[in-house]
Amino acid sequence: MGCCDVPGLMPLEDAQQKLLAGIQPVTDTLTLPIADAVGYVLAEDIRSPLNVPPFDNSAMDGYAVRRDEVMANQPLPIAGRSMAGSPFDEPWPSNTCVRIMTGAQIPSGCDAVIMQENATVSDAGVTFNETELKANQNIRPIGDDIRQGDLALAKGTRLTARDIPMIATLGMATVMVLRKPIVAFFSTGDELQPLGNELAAGQIYDSNRYGIKALIEQFGCEPLDLGIIPDNPKQLTATFMHAQQAADVVLTSGGVSVGEADYTKDILGQLGEINFWKLAIKPGKPFAFGTLPNAWFCGLPGNPVSAFITCYVLVQPLLAKLAGHTQWQPPITIPAITRSGFKKSPGRTDYQRAIYYIENGQFVVESTGNQSSGAFRSMSLANCFVVLERERGRVEAGETVNIELFNASISA
Ligand code: AMP
Ligand code: MG
Repeated sequence: MGCCDVPGLMPLEDAQQKLLAGIQPVTDTLTLPIADAVGYVLAEDIRSPLNVPPFDNSAMDGYAVRRDEVMANQPLPIAGRSMAGSPFDEPWPSNTCVRIMTGAQIPSGCDAVIMQENATVSDAGVTFNETELKANQNIRPIGDDIRQGDLALAKGTRLTARDIPMIATLGMATVMVLRKPIVAFFSTGDELQPLGNELAAGQIYDSNRYGIKALIEQFGCEPLDLGIIPDNPKQLTATFMHAQQAADVVLTSGGVSVGEADYTKDILGQLGEINFWKLAIKPGKPFAFGTLPNAWFCGLPGNPVSAFITCYVLVQPLLAKLAGHTQWQPPITIPAITRSGFKKSPGRTDYQRAIYYIENGQFVVESTGNQSSGAFRSMSLANCFVVLERERGRVEAGETVNIELFNASISA
């Protein structure tokens, strides 16, 4: 045990390893039109069936020439035109030039294009005031971008808007992708009401389920919303049984603490196996992970900030692996000077909510306020986490801290 290990709390790094250890990516595939494939993971390498560009073409509007025919004050008559989409395909007499537009095919024998800004047109032809010509200047050669057979996109890439024009360039109308993992989720708690209902005494709105659904979608998975389940062991057991049949992962919020109505962990123990429960992370200590007969299980704490952060920090990499998104990378961490102090005692890795900005070329960061695990506003206002190491104590303004920038799943 290290200096700051708390008995019974698993260090975050150990938990992150355990969460990924047994996960195998989904294997079922489907074929989708490319415009519908954003957010899906490629099931196979995409190799280019053609050269891109497919022919030598002009990078400029100007004149196609043979370099040894270009001399100062010697006009070359125009033999014809090569336009984008309609090449010049007649014989090309010597000592003439061809009018050419950007993207148009280079006439055979041409070894340079002179931009029109360096040319003067008269009745006698075109006179060039650029005569020191480089071989193949302003010519984009066949295969310059991608050669036939090259790897354009690797299996395991999660497709974004960036990838769609790339695939379209290759002439591919459809792609083979992996199916999205299904994540069944529900909230537990007698106090919870769905949006739209009036709140009676002691009740609150179920905010976690809406946030968790959004995260599941952002992580590239398919959400299966099983609603709010009261703190009733029979109903919880039935819901677990149904969820683990219908989904790859079952995700719950609430009921994993040690309160009198916290049944989730016991039920998991009866139906499946608990891998770990209780982490050295703040917020989010009562995070549970295990297996059900037919699905993985992640139990998020009920407190809204804890639920959201553990879903982002711990569940996201698991779902990326399950989705086959092999190119997923953890969020970026960089040092910054803090303008606020942060309360902290050694023992747990702390994810405090903050805003970073750049001042005189230096990253600085400031707390977004109330850091209670039930106070979501500081999460909503943040654009980064201040990640305070397990062994660290209180942090004073002016100290250097590590900030973790939000990745695309929770930032604009
Ligand atoms: P629990 O983990 O069930 O003991 O819940 C811890 C705290 O989180 C309590 O204050 C709950 O009322 C609150 N909570 C639990 N589930 C939700 C939820 N789905 N939405 C908002 N707050 C919740
Ligand atoms: Mg509860």
